[in-house]
Amino acid sequence: MFLKEIINLFKGLFTVFKHLFKRPVTLEYPEKRRCLNDVFRGKPEVQGCIGCGICKKVCPAGAIKFDKDESGKVYNFEFDFKKCIVCGNCSFYCPKGAIKMTKEYELATSDKENLTLKYRGGADD
Ligand code: SF4
Ligand code: SF4
Repeated sequence: MFLKEIINLFKGLFTVFKHLFKRPVTLEYPEKRRCLNDVFRGKPEVQGCIGCGICKKVCPAGAIKFDKDESGKVYNFEFDFKKCIVCGNCSFYCPKGAIKMTKEYELATSDKENLTLKYRGGADD
């Protein structure tokens, strides 16, 4: 029993020393950040929406909503980032290229209201 504990102690020490001289795999975030690759998807943004509704249909999370006035102008465009899984479907299928997946990913907040990403006009703003 005692011998087993000694062996486990040395196994632990071996693991520590094995990694002591290797390059760290983590970064001192937030002082240092990794470069994001081209296909990284972060917070979605909208500009130039015509209100066709395709993004709503292809969103698997039901995270998009907007209203339209009598003239068909889009307003109150919202992404619910509590639901959004950042799949990029909305951006991919939008016929106007109105939705862009930005590289913004630091969206942690203590107020869940901040997770509703609002674009007042949707079409023009
Ligand atoms: S964002 Fe694109 S897909 Fe969604 S309603 Fe507007 S134009 Fe249509
Ligand atoms: S990225 Fe995906 S989950 Fe998020 S709003 Fe677009 S379609 Fe919906």
